[in-house]
This record gives sequence, C-alpha cells and structure tokens, in this order.
Amino acid sequence: MGIKSIGLDVPGLLRDISETAITFLYPAECRVCKEFLGTTSTPYICNNCWQDIQFLEAPWCDICGTPGIHGLCEACATAPPRYGKLRTLAFYQTTLQQAIHFFKFEKKKVFARPLIQLINTHMPSDCNIAEYDFILPIPIHKKRLRERGFNQATLLANGIAKAGGVPLLTNTLVRHRHTVAQSSLNREARQQNLTGAFEIRNPAIIRDKRLLIFDDVFTTGATIREVVSELWTADPAEVDVLTLARTLNV
Ligand SMILES: [Zn+2]
Ligand SMILES: [Zn+2]
Repeated sequence: MGIKSIGLDVPGLLRDISETAITFLYPAECRVCKEFLGTTSTPYICNNCWQDIQFLEAPWCDICGTPGIHGLCEACATAPPRYGKLRTLAFYQTTLQQAIHFFKFEKKKVFARPLIQLINTHMPSDCNIAEYDFILPIPIHKKRLRERGFNQATLLANGIAKAGGVPLLTNTLVRHRHTVAQSSLNREARQQNLTGAFEIRNPAIIRDKRLLIFDDVFTTGATIREVVSELWTADPAEVDVLTLARTLNV
C-alpha cells in the first residue's frame, strides 16, 4: 500500500521535516549581531549583517592599496613592493571576519557562494579581472589541504575566474614546505617561516603572462611577498594581487 493512498502530503511532510531540521541544526541567533536570525540566505549570519560589510573606499595607495592615501604611501615611495598593485575589497571585521572564519576554520563550504558573489559585485574599480591571463590562488600545503578538505583561496578564486572568463592556475605555484600557521607568529618570524615555502612547477606557462594572485585575507603581506618574489623567477609580464579582506592594522 502506497503512502499516498492514506491521504498524506508526502512532499509537504518532507519539506516540514527538513525545515525543522534546519532550524534545529542552525541556531536561531545571528552570530554577528546576536539578533534573531530569521529567514536568511546563509546560515548563522542575518541578512542585515550581510549589508553591513565595510568596503574599502578610494583613495588608496596606487601600489599597496592602503586606504586614505593619494598617490603612493611612504613605504611604497621608498621601497616599493615587487607586485604592480594590490587591491582589497573590504576590512577584515564584523560580518566578513565571521563569514571567513566559518568558511575557513569551521570548514563550512556553504560560505563560498556568498563570498564569491560579494567579490564579483564589489570588485575594486581599478581591478579588471579580464585583463589577466591567469588567476593564481595562494596555495596551502597538502597536509593542511587534507585537514581542511579544501583550499579556501582556490574556491573563491575559481568563482572570480569563472565570472571574469580567466583561467585559474592551481598546479603551477605550489607550497612544498609545511609551515607553522602564520597567525601564531610575529612579523619577523612570519617572513622567516615562509622563506622557500613556495615553488613554481612548469614556469614556462607563466612566462610573459599577466598574473593576478588571490588570497582571502591580507595581514602583514609576508605570504604575498614570498609568492611574488618566487613568481618573478619565471619572468611573468605582470604580477598583481587581489584579496578579499585586509586587517585594520596594515
Ligand atoms: Zn546579524
Ligand atoms: Zn603603498
């Protein structure tokens, strides 16, 4: 005897059960503002908080993107970094910090989609993805990849690459040495920790190409500096950097 014959609305019942399960699994309080979560497009963070991201506004340093600077900042004027320009979407605080935390450290892949959407709709005005030959996410070591199950920078960069119609390059720049988590180290130790951590496989692919490096969070720039200097050994035409967030102290 089928369930339908006793008059049950099976699809409706399943929907009710799954909605109950969602309410049960996801706490009803927004993790950012602590208000009632309500109906949201993503778990944990309310729709109001998603509207509250602090995007960087021009002017910013022509090279390193430090906000509040016309032309070049003092550091770039005296000893410019080796990339052409670094651009960032928003400050690493409140909603964005929480969303990246869920995504990266709590391994909640469901955050990839809203973060990609955020990047593609708030791209800095002087960053044109279509100008690049390749997008290269900052790689993580295979040990960390095993632990986390995915590279957060690769997932985000893939969404940017797709929207911009630019190929994503993931096998050329590799992290061949496992390093201690950068967040556990001070500024000097961070640079030392990374020396020789990256290598380029098949450098011919990027020779004379315009490259855009992508990372989720820019903190001291130690990782970016190391990657950029490694990339230049393969003679690309251009190396720029895009990050989703940057901490307030840089
Ligand atoms: Zn909220
Ligand atoms: Zn600068």
